[in-house]
Amino acid sequence: MATIYVVGVTGEGQARIPSVPECLFCRIVSGGVPASLVLESSRTLSFRDISPQAPTHVLVIPKDHYPDLAALAAADGGLLTELVNQAAEVARAEGISGSGYRVVFNTGADAGQAVPHVHAHVLGGRELGWPPG
Ligand code: AMP
Ligand code: ZN
Repeated sequence: MATIYVVGVTGEGQARIPSVPECLFCRIVSGGVPASLVLESSRTLSFRDISPQAPTHVLVIPKDHYPDLAALAAADGGLLTELVNQAAEVARAEGISGSGYRVVFNTGADAGQAVPHVHAHVLGGRELGWPPG
């Protein structure tokens, strides 16, 4: 039997997917998996990465499920802006706005995207090498 997750359609005609049961980050949103929360808004959630790569390493996600950055941008450009604003707010809250920080959206296998629920990594608190590995 097919499982259909689509329950809404955005103004741009893209499917809106509130939650995917087997998705780790959807389970963090629902409270089924614990996380160390940093910030929350009505449509976004920020929590500490379980395997931090810098003194500040926070993940910022939309509460609805979008597999990657392009899907989020295509479905709801306003939500993408909200996500980026929350990343900047995380940086302010962590005290790294002045020293600088990096926002990364890994997309697909070659970039090492392990969780197919779009997330911004906010990294800072040390000098970050470039180019990344
Ligand atoms: P990516 O490789 O870009 O998909 O990033 C996924 C990130 O999620 C990695 O940096 C992981 O360390 C992190 N991660 C995996 N499981 C959890 C968890 N339960 N809570 C917080 N972060 C997690
Ligand atoms: Zn999800």
